[in-house]
Amino acid sequence: MRPSVLNGLFLPVSSIQGIGPKLSSLIEKACGKYTSDVLFSMPSGVLYRPYIERKKELVHGALATILFEVISHQKPLKRSQPYKVKGIYDGQEAELIFFNYHEKYLVDRLRVNEKYFISGKIEFFMGKVGMLHPDFISKTKEEIPVFEPIYPLTAGLTSKVMAKAVRNVLATLPDLPEWQENEFMKSKGFSDWKSSLVKAHHPQKESDLFSDNKFKMRLAYDELLANQLALFLARSHHKKQKGIQVKQVKEIEKEVISKLPFELTGAQQRVIKEIRQDLFSEDKMIRLLQGDVGAGKTVVSLAALLTVCEGNYQGVLMAPTDILAGQHYKAFEKMLAGTNIRIELLTGREKGKKRANILERLASGEIDILIGTHAVFTEDVQYKNLALVVIDEQHKFGVQQRLQLTKKQRGVNLLVMTATPIPRTLALTSYGDMDISILDEKPKNRQPIETKVISVDKVFDIIHKLDEKIKSSPKKVQVYWVCPLVQESEKMDLMAAEKRFEELKEVFGDKVGMVHGKMKGAEKDAVMERFKKGELSVLVSTTVIEVGVDVPSASVMVIEHAERFGLAGLHQLRGRVGRGSEKSVCLLLYGKQLSETGRARLKVMRESENGFVIAEEDLRLRGAGDLLGVKQSGLPQFKMADLSVHQHLLKTAAQDAKMILSQDPYLESERGKALRILLYLFQKDSEILTLKAG
Ligand code: ADP
Ligand code: MG
Repeated sequence: MRPSVLNGLFLPVSSIQGIGPKLSSLIEKACGKYTSDVLFSMPSGVLYRPYIERKKELVHGALATILFEVISHQKPLKRSQPYKVKGIYDGQEAELIFFNYHEKYLVDRLRVNEKYFISGKIEFFMGKVGMLHPDFISKTKEEIPVFEPIYPLTAGLTSKVMAKAVRNVLATLPDLPEWQENEFMKSKGFSDWKSSLVKAHHPQKESDLFSDNKFKMRLAYDELLANQLALFLARSHHKKQKGIQVKQVKEIEKEVISKLPFELTGAQQRVIKEIRQDLFSEDKMIRLLQGDVGAGKTVVSLAALLTVCEGNYQGVLMAPTDILAGQHYKAFEKMLAGTNIRIELLTGREKGKKRANILERLASGEIDILIGTHAVFTEDVQYKNLALVVIDEQHKFGVQQRLQLTKKQRGVNLLVMTATPIPRTLALTSYGDMDISILDEKPKNRQPIETKVISVDKVFDIIHKLDEKIKSSPKKVQVYWVCPLVQESEKMDLMAAEKRFEELKEVFGDKVGMVHGKMKGAEKDAVMERFKKGELSVLVSTTVIEVGVDVPSASVMVIEHAERFGLAGLHQLRGRVGRGSEKSVCLLLYGKQLSETGRARLKVMRESENGFVIAEEDLRLRGAGDLLGVKQSGLPQFKMADLSVHQHLLKTAAQDAKMILSQDPYLESERGKALRILLYLFQKDSEILTLKAG
């Protein structure tokens, strides 16, 4: 249970003083549902409004706070004209100006013969000091901030409201025991948690907003340490569990692999060996297989699944989409022809009798390998003796889901495969609980993909050239055509795709097909199948083909509005070609407004084909929070830490976490108890629970 000292930080936003239900729902949308989420939303700017007594020190156009004595109100004759409040500042005439005014409010707020502190942008009207719609009107100077933090805005939510919410949460901040070591803090120049937070919310100059300030570093370090501790806890929890130990009875794996039409790469052989060792040992396997697109992960997963079948256990392969599951199923069927391994496909599409039949055979052990989508873990799916779960192209499958899955399927070994190349540093933040295998070698028959960056103006030239190429080439030429990602709406994506589809149809006739996210499964399959068989030359799609689709004869990839995709996404898409023996090209079409970073990113794509290099560049160019594909890849999104700046802190945090847990594995010491509070603060509740389970 969360320690009570943190209660105030886990109250609903609506409990914040001065924030009504309407505003609180806006705040929830913008930053999260708890008071602590408000606290962890950092200002993005700062305004300086000095108090200035003398007119000669005022600057036209700058913010200032002045002392203003109201002399008279001047209501205009017409509503369209401004309402003026005349007064005296520094012994001279001055005026406040309002459009769209509320007369009663103004008369009440600015009473004649009284003095007010007024703050806003100073303007001189023919030598007279004036101010249009002051930001603050107050009886006391102290009520007007000299430095005003500016919070990022979302629809309907003003910075002023956020500032107020933050201020009121800060006012109730509890004193928490220090979880960092004194010596460490001194050496880094860090101050305590509370004052660091207060400072972060009270910037006094532009540079106070930077992530490399001491107080922001302190807060980032806290978050990273919590992240690393949580991962180490999950890891040691995994390690303590016994896994189902597979005994080798037959040798199907070798037999199947030797019949493949290609030789395994050195990396594939090495990784398969690592996995088999894990499965033959009594420890539970929790392993991540990282391999660039096209590196050949599917075969590795087959070898792993066959290993458990050899010991008369069952295995399951889970893919993120129906298309992919179906594709794996077909590939497996082919590779397993001639063996007596029984495989079956289970997705959301298998229903009624068919599904019931599959479930029955699964429970009685008549199925050796089940392939499917998340449907394979539906409540009523029972296995006879499941020993291995393989998760392909895992999305949003974070530490907590892994903990949950391993809890539900006791002793079951887990292999997670990802093609999202993740920079080393980031891998540490999300996969620190797992052992990692890397497929860092591509099959030898691959040719480099030529990547060209071209303006979308040239699109009709490209279509024309493709048409010529398709007609004149002795070998079949197949093209993926990925349509622009219109970020605002799926509907607009589809419209753009349909428009292009029609244009392409004029040239390619019935040789062009289209798949998109709104299509029914069977429809999608039919189109994919025709493309695979070579009946279609051009496949237009929204990004549904992004993950894992394998059509080796496709050798051209066209991506429209490439600048709108993240580097990870582009890399994934490009990886759809260059899978066969044909030389492949990838055309990145950019739109009219290409930003500096947009240009830099497309350049990275042109210059590198290595997913890990691309990922590092992406991190450098955009910062971790903006990495497109971050959400999909299940990487944690940090609130305080910015890994493009705080990488070095992450390494320290990893070392620190390791040392802490080696000395105090149950977090029982004085510092250990404080660290538990830190973990709860960052909502690592399920990782803390592993401490109790022992
Ligand atoms: P990914 O790692 O992206 O999942 P796949 O497993 O889909 O890659 O493999 C891509 C293609 O490469 C498939 O057509 C597969 O049959 C083929 N392949 C896998 N391993 C090798 C190899 N060692 N040599 C040649 N082709 C291979
Ligand atoms: Mg794959």
